[in-house]
Amino acid sequence: MNLCVLGAQWGDEGKGKIVDLLTPHFDIVARYQGGHNAGHTVFVQGRKFVLHLIPSGILHPGVVCVIGNGVVVDPVALFAELDTLQAAGIETTGRLLVSDKAHLILPYHRELDVLSEARRGERKIGTTSRGIGPAYEDKIGRRGVRTGDLADPSDRGPLALAIRENVAARNRLVGNADLHWEKVLAHLRRAWPRLRPLVADTSVFVHRAMAQGRAVLFEGAQGTLLDIDHGTYPFVTSSNATAGGAATGIGVGPGAVGTVLGVAKAYTTRVGAGPLPTELTGELGERLRESGQEFGASTGRPRRCGWYDAVAVRYAVRVNGLAALAITKLDVLDGLERLEICTAYRCRGEVVTEMPGDIAQLAACEPVYETMPGWTRSTKGLTKWADLPVEAQRYVRRLEETSGVGAAIVSTGSDRDHTIVREDGVLSHLRSPVRR
Ligand code: GDP
Repeated sequence: MNLCVLGAQWGDEGKGKIVDLLTPHFDIVARYQGGHNAGHTVFVQGRKFVLHLIPSGILHPGVVCVIGNGVVVDPVALFAELDTLQAAGIETTGRLLVSDKAHLILPYHRELDVLSEARRGERKIGTTSRGIGPAYEDKIGRRGVRTGDLADPSDRGPLALAIRENVAARNRLVGNADLHWEKVLAHLRRAWPRLRPLVADTSVFVHRAMAQGRAVLFEGAQGTLLDIDHGTYPFVTSSNATAGGAATGIGVGPGAVGTVLGVAKAYTTRVGAGPLPTELTGELGERLRESGQEFGASTGRPRRCGWYDAVAVRYAVRVNGLAALAITKLDVLDGLERLEICTAYRCRGEVVTEMPGDIAQLAACEPVYETMPGWTRSTKGLTKWADLPVEAQRYVRRLEETSGVGAAIVSTGSDRDHTIVREDGVLSHLRSPVRR
């Protein structure tokens, strides 16, 4: 009954729309990693919502949203998002829980992020500079601060001690002592009254809910190729965006994660640095960027665009155990005369069908393409498979064959309704939508 929805490429695949579409089948939507560097854009009846930290399930009355222990939380960003939702008339009271084990992004993490990127110079990762990486560094370095720690904000408590040490380390790193630990502690003390009602042992909450027969949708951020372990390291995010992250990031056993659905665009994009074998730098790349509106939801940065990379998606199928794909943005390819699918790479004279783990090798790879005819008719907003131009049907079928897994969903526009759901797909076993 449970489902995990994650990115099968380099992020920005349209997970927000797919999660939003499937949420009526679930009682709980649980975000398991990342921070407010993610940007899910969801259109509901023409209204645009951009969510960074809070699961898009919040747009569905009655659904409870969980920010799991695997997420890093900036209280300022969280409150801003809550304010925006409330201003739009979305009631969030009692519908959002934040794990007591989720680590906090502190005011100086952002500064350390910018500094670390500047130090990398040419080799910079292209982070969103929101302090996500440094917050995870503190978590792994066992000096991080968790939301639950704010319960004791006394001057001599463990929180104050951790802040003192961390601020001293920051001052050494930055090379001046202009930040005082008392200021950081005061910031957290101010945040606590608003945070306190949200903080809970969310692992217990999710377990109890599952025991009562409630269904959980696990929501991933970023994408498989940006995963800290399985992505194109070091040009990756600082957490596990892959399916395993759902278990550790929420505090459930791997079996509870259920079916894993990978979201993939009908082409490829990537934001930031790092290898992208099918990248199109010329007019075609520009054409995809313009018609796909490929500009970051969080940062507005133009995304790099290229043809569909079946080698990368097959890799995502393997490392996540994907049962199916949701293919998004098919409509963006409308009107292109021919389409290319990358089925293998040519690396230093050798044809390889698996993604090389070494990025220098990956960067040296040339895509091996298979050409398919495009279609002239618009697919925008189509809701039935049979209505797709035959060339579009063939293209999607070929994506399925080359990726090694079927497409349970084909998305033809940004709106919830612009979707083809394949009746015979793996999603047919989901519980019927709950009317709320
Ligand atoms: P996410 O982080 O994976 O949720 O992706 P983003 O929200 O950053 O980017 C996806 C963008 O594509 C959003 O603006 C969506 O509204 C839009 N989108 C999603 N599915 C489709 C689709 O099938 N067609 C078109 N044209 N846009 C889509």
